[in-house]
Amino acid sequence: MQTHGHWINGREVAAERMIPVINPSDGGVMAQIARGGTAEIDAAVRAAQAALDGPWGRLSATERGRLLGRLAALILRDAEALAQAESQDVGKPIRQARADATACARYFEFYGGSADKMHGDTIPYADGMTVMTLWEPHGVTGHIVPWNYPMQIVGRSVGAALAMGNACVLKPAEDASLSSLMLARLAAEAGFPEGVWNVVTGLGEEAGAALTAHPGIAHVSFTGSPEVGTLVQSAAAKHTIPVTLELGGKSPQIVFQDADLDTAAATVMNGIIQNAGQTCSAGSRVLIQAPVFDRLVADLSARFGRLEAGPAERDLDLGPVVNADQQRRVKSFLQAARADGLSFAGQGRIASNAPEGGFYVPPTLLADVAPDHRLAQEEVFGPVLTAIRFSDEAEALAIANGTPFGLVAGVWTADIGRAMRLSRGIRAGQVFINNYGAGGGVELPFGGVKRSGHGREKGFAALAGFASLKTIAIRHG
Ligand code: NAD
Repeated sequence: MQTHGHWINGREVAAERMIPVINPSDGGVMAQIARGGTAEIDAAVRAAQAALDGPWGRLSATERGRLLGRLAALILRDAEALAQAESQDVGKPIRQARADATACARYFEFYGGSADKMHGDTIPYADGMTVMTLWEPHGVTGHIVPWNYPMQIVGRSVGAALAMGNACVLKPAEDASLSSLMLARLAAEAGFPEGVWNVVTGLGEEAGAALTAHPGIAHVSFTGSPEVGTLVQSAAAKHTIPVTLELGGKSPQIVFQDADLDTAAATVMNGIIQNAGQTCSAGSRVLIQAPVFDRLVADLSARFGRLEAGPAERDLDLGPVVNADQQRRVKSFLQAARADGLSFAGQGRIASNAPEGGFYVPPTLLADVAPDHRLAQEEVFGPVLTAIRFSDEAEALAIANGTPFGLVAGVWTADIGRAMRLSRGIRAGQVFINNYGAGGGVELPFGGVKRSGHGREKGFAALAGFASLKTIAIRHG
């Protein structure tokens, strides 16, 4: 069985304590990863600081961009191996893992191209003076990543941080660390100096907490649950450093009676079953205007009935969820729905030959759910779609905004005026009109409001989050 150490200062560091890596498709142990803590985080932060004080800190933005581009090419070269590892580790159908590997490469391409394009300004100020601004890296940045899209989330946060000249310490999720370690090796092959990209694997309350508490960390980018996000922000506040929080969602897809219902149905379904619903931006609520409610629910119900969940390598509609806890969590939501008498309008099946030990849950459509019901308010993080009826635009907007979250929304209508009114009225980081982009869009700024977090990743806008702006005022007469 393969064992994986940490990656610190350009080399693998063996560990005494290990964590078993479970394959969610069958529940078996497939590898071991190192269980790091304070000492390993400290070594990684020191290595990153030494890189900043050494050649990495002196590289030009163009040279940094070139390294990022080289890494993108290596990711594409090894895309199949990365996809296979991610598919087994997370339980994703291989097709989805391949798309993640390509998206990961695209982040490094995009941020490679951006590295030398963050220009400062000159500011008209006073006679005899010139004032300019410069973007500077924060220093050592910490990156805490969840298990649902490790390659994509590493790409978007480490890619932007390196483009701006930071050096990184990455703590992947204990359930899915393999691709982060593979990417660190590829970064070394691409020619990044040692210490620029460090990976410490381990548990959140050990390695993750040690990272957020370390005085040498200048910025933390956290993607994960709102509960842990709150802990991370509190830890960062103790040493007054900025954080970017990308947290959960309960994103609405709002379908009006004048929409193209066939396209809406297909997209709404994909938006909840992708990655077995374990997508922060999953469209987990579908709000349907009353006159077309029954018709759209019938269409979705037929689609759900054809879905099949099975082992990642069989590449079915969906794989298992990531672990036994997540399986219990989703099942407990479904039990609550049954106990409360909600209508199970459509349900897919688990493949007959799916291994007993795998963490499967049936994809489920619940219809006519009250907007304030638990199933319409809380993030399930599984393949469970909640259909809610509304009568008019004002009610749709109130329901859409009526949860603690604000990450993404979809609006389906042929009326451009209504689409624009809702785009302005919905409190979310992204609004899609007549399409929906759960998890996609390297170029599109992404992030939440309310309990979904703050700060932006993806796109050019992310670069400002990984840098600080210095103003230089010169009196020259
Ligand atoms: P999680 O919060 O349990 O874990 C996320 C990461 O935080 C892991 O690496 C974990 O080890 C670490 N962690 C746990 N406790 C910690 C602590 N005390 N200090 C520091 N780090 C700690 O989340 P999860 O279960 O891995 O992921 C699911 C959640 O992530 C969902 O709520 C989902 O919506 C959210 N998510 C958000 C986005 C986004 O971009 N907005 C993307 C993916 C997932």
